[in-house]
Amino acid sequence: MKEQEVKRTDVNTLGEFGLIEHITKDFNNIHPSTNKGIGDDAAVLDASGRKMVVSTDMFVEGIHFDLVYSPLKHIGYKAVIVNLSDIYAMNAIPEQITFSMAFSSKYSVEAIQEIYEGVRTACDLYKVDLIGGDTTSSTKGMSISVTAIGYAKEEEIVGRSGAQVGDVICVTGDLGAAYLGLQILEREKQLYINHPGIQPDLAKAQYLIERQLKPEARKDAIDYFRKNEIIPTSMIDISDGLTSELFHICKSSGVGAFIEEGKVPIHDDSQMMALQFNMDPITSALNGGEDYELLFTINEKDLEKVRYMPDIYMIGDIVPKDDGIKLHTTGGNRHDLKAQGWNHFQT
Ligand code: ADP
Ligand code: MG
Repeated sequence: MKEQEVKRTDVNTLGEFGLIEHITKDFNNIHPSTNKGIGDDAAVLDASGRKMVVSTDMFVEGIHFDLVYSPLKHIGYKAVIVNLSDIYAMNAIPEQITFSMAFSSKYSVEAIQEIYEGVRTACDLYKVDLIGGDTTSSTKGMSISVTAIGYAKEEEIVGRSGAQVGDVICVTGDLGAAYLGLQILEREKQLYINHPGIQPDLAKAQYLIERQLKPEARKDAIDYFRKNEIIPTSMIDISDGLTSELFHICKSSGVGAFIEEGKVPIHDDSQMMALQFNMDPITSALNGGEDYELLFTINEKDLEKVRYMPDIYMIGDIVPKDDGIKLHTTGGNRHDLKAQGWNHFQT
């Protein structure tokens, strides 16, 4: 597409209030808990005796997203999804979000609107109300902050600290794909920088790239828990890699864990791509981030109910703390798992 064909309206032509009105006009509130949304100094919420669960995340251009390969719509979508995932990981249901942005003059009204199309798609699909935010300028690039607000009965809330020896460790979907998707996008970006004329060959990488650019949150798992009266003993969402999240659960709960290598779910495309990157597929599954699957532990009495969940994998057991946090390899060895995770401050 040629630059000059793209309509570009400078943000200053609308002004701050005009812009806010423009980008939020297609949002409608659906929850009775949203007493007052956008348009006043603050939103008003009604928890109706339920517990409120609140989570915030920031996304910074160049750190968490790269405009070279992230469509604007996907940036808005993912920023919302990542926050909803944190609410689901508490076994709560999100009903509201706020969405705040600081952006430089390189962003046009059309660009901001595209981001909001992604926000609206996520709000529609996951049934959450956009109840406010803030809009301001920055000297360089874009920063986004999203806050999600969810609700649950007190006894439904699941933290990281309830795992007990004998519990079964479960995960809601395959792991490592988002990380491998990112590796592909970074590789193609370098290729493009070195050979600007070249068209990227992404045909075989579609699943992995989608897992990176357009992740989903596991609302279906929480809905299943509600319907079947299951309350996991502990739960966390996999944003920093399975090992890292397992360490959080074990540390908070004062337990150890055994993971069976052969039971860790890895998509066929991930297997293939990991090998192309000279990486052991299990390494990307254990340490790759941004899968936004739920890792949870379940008491043995609930095992039968969980077994029929779609897309569920039972990958190990909670053991006494002194037994450590270990991987049983398919070759019959036992390794200590080492948490690597993401470190945004690493240079
Ligand atoms: P204030 O000056 O009190 O911060 P604003 O003018 O920033 O108020 O915001 C006016 C209304 O628009 C508020 O309800 C606020 O929550 C909402 N709002 C501002 N920016 C955004 C945004 N980026 N997305 C959604 N709502 C927003
Ligand atoms: Mg404001």
